[in-house]
Amino acid sequence: MTDDIWAGGCQCGAVRYRLLSRPINACICHCRMCQKQFGSFFGAFADVPEADFQLTRGTVKYFNSSSEAARGFCGDCGTPLVYRFLSQPRIAVAIGSLDRHSEMKPEFQYGLEAREPWFAELHSLPGTLTGEGDNGVGDTPERFDRIRASSRQHPDHDTPEGWHP
Ligand SMILES: [Zn+2]
Ligand SMILES: [Zn+2]
Repeated sequence: MTDDIWAGGCQCGAVRYRLLSRPINACICHCRMCQKQFGSFFGAFADVPEADFQLTRGTVKYFNSSSEAARGFCGDCGTPLVYRFLSQPRIAVAIGSLDRHSEMKPEFQYGLEAREPWFAELHSLPGTLTGEGDNGVGDTPERFDRIRASSRQHPDHDTPEGWHP
């Protein structure tokens, strides 16, 4: 892992990509289409010129959500991966799919009309670390040990061809 490599991929590892430049315009979008694509409260993206996006493993499946956008994901595990602009040569990657996701701090938010009214309160919710105690639904340390020991999630770095969990 070096400072100039921007790569990422899906949860199962069937799709991996590499970017030839540092992504820019890191943002979140609350619009209803992004909420649906991510199955969450917002989408998070950073973009590169289309020519700087290279698939290094697998293929991306696309859903054309409008005449302006194709939203790409892994056909095997469903991880949202990209937002392809159909009228300009740029492609945005889902920040959470980047190996170096923490370095992509959003600078702007779009889609304010659909922002959840309690969005600003999320950071103050009570919380725990993963595996820290039982929240009442059987989240015992033993359960998290089993999850860690059996995880099939692809790691946050490139792996040799034929990688398998
Ligand atoms: Zn996958
Ligand atoms: Zn959006």
